[in-house]
Amino acid sequence: EAQEEKKISSVNGNFDIDLDASHVLHNSLVSIPLTVASASGSYVTFSNGHRVLDACTGAAVAIIGHGDPDVQAAIQEQMTKVCYTHTVAFTTPVAEALANDILEGNPHGLCRAFFVSSGSEAMDTALKLARQFYVEIGQPQRRSLVARQRAYHGNTVGALSVSSHVARRAPFKDALILTNVSYVSATYAYRGQLEEETEEDYSARLVKELNEEFQAVGPTTVMAFVAEPVGGATAGCITAPRGYYQGVRQLCDKYGILLILDEVMCGSGRTGTYFAFEQEGPGVYPDLITLGKGLGGGYAPMGAVLAHKKVIRGLQSGTSYFVHSHTYQAHALSCAAALAVQKVLRRDGLVARCATKGRWLEKALNSTIGECKYVGNIRGKGLFWGIEFVKDRATKEPFEPALRFTWRMVDETFRRGLSIYPGAGTADGIRGDHVLIAPPYNASDEEFEEMIRLLSEAYGTVEREVELALVA
Ligand code: PMP
Repeated sequence: EAQEEKKISSVNGNFDIDLDASHVLHNSLVSIPLTVASASGSYVTFSNGHRVLDACTGAAVAIIGHGDPDVQAAIQEQMTKVCYTHTVAFTTPVAEALANDILEGNPHGLCRAFFVSSGSEAMDTALKLARQFYVEIGQPQRRSLVARQRAYHGNTVGALSVSSHVARRAPFKDALILTNVSYVSATYAYRGQLEEETEEDYSARLVKELNEEFQAVGPTTVMAFVAEPVGGATAGCITAPRGYYQGVRQLCDKYGILLILDEVMCGSGRTGTYFAFEQEGPGVYPDLITLGKGLGGGYAPMGAVLAHKKVIRGLQSGTSYFVHSHTYQAHALSCAAALAVQKVLRRDGLVARCATKGRWLEKALNSTIGECKYVGNIRGKGLFWGIEFVKDRATKEPFEPALRFTWRMVDETFRRGLSIYPGAGTADGIRGDHVLIAPPYNASDEEFEEMIRLLSEAYGTVEREVELALVA
């Protein structure tokens, strides 16, 4: 039994491949990743037989679960037609069908999709679209970008430049990161909203700060403001206070600055509406929006930028050619996968299920661990929830990183058969521990209950361990 215990003990400590002999450059050069043997529905099985309920769908990707037969069939059928064609010069029926499926009758003015292979590529593409838009309409002096603290937009050089993930930027910041980017506060009510402030006051203060930043940079020199409607990887599901995006939209309109919303993690239905921004009040729309992760549901690499007709008209008024392309843009198999995922979402009413199951999940999280000693804040929307852990609920003091609270949670849940997403680390110099829950939209009611049971039991174990560690 002890042997068995060791075998499944840790995400970071399982020895099922020889790292020195592997010719794959693994992200971790010192610890050994587990080998995934198969995945089906809401479960992932490792080659040592350990099976986990996938409560974070990888990194919020497998939105309809693993191994969906309709998606598999759609990819297979596409393979019999065409897998690859050079989509810079040609198009395919499946790419056209996917763009139609997402954009037909779009009430927000979004009218064109540019398909890429990841969220990072989508963000780089959006930044280049914004820049070329201004070049074409005769405002080439717009060179600056404003982004937010606690933001993550991807790991390519452009996307990392508008991200504020300190650790991921560190080795590159003096050599590869763009310097025409400045930052404003995140919408982080737990630590940002003052006690005497109402939600509206907090929102107004954040919008005022953005206005001051635009003024400081020079509003006629800013290309775009970039934000995640629900902050994911770096922020642990932070949501915006009521009215924030309406204020942001008004400011962007006032100065002619483009609004780029990043919905790579929170889009594709996860928050209970297809786009997360649709819950931010009337009049809110992006000029450019990025999607990724859930768009292809993990069945194939997929990302997209959706552009507003204003941006497209601007481009058309100039050279009429977007100076950007990728060999694998709009890859036919990825488009087939994404189209099939959209059909499953619609057939099974899964976006609405995100909203209803999301309300259930919020209640379940709050009623099981909400009042526990080290649970500082539970926040999110739909099926996208973050739990922030603190040493002291009253002062919100974070744990020492050496305590590895987040990793203890990830390891303990994993040992018990549950996969959650770690969000530890330093963002903008703020220490913090949080985990993300982002389940498949079609997990069964029983699986949802199992998630909550395993999570709260694991939390109980970690709480006891940490209590002991703190007195030691
Ligand atoms: N934007 C957001 C909001 C993300 O969460 C991520 C990935 N965590 C990215 C962009 C980058 O996506 P990818 O890893 O597919 O390049």
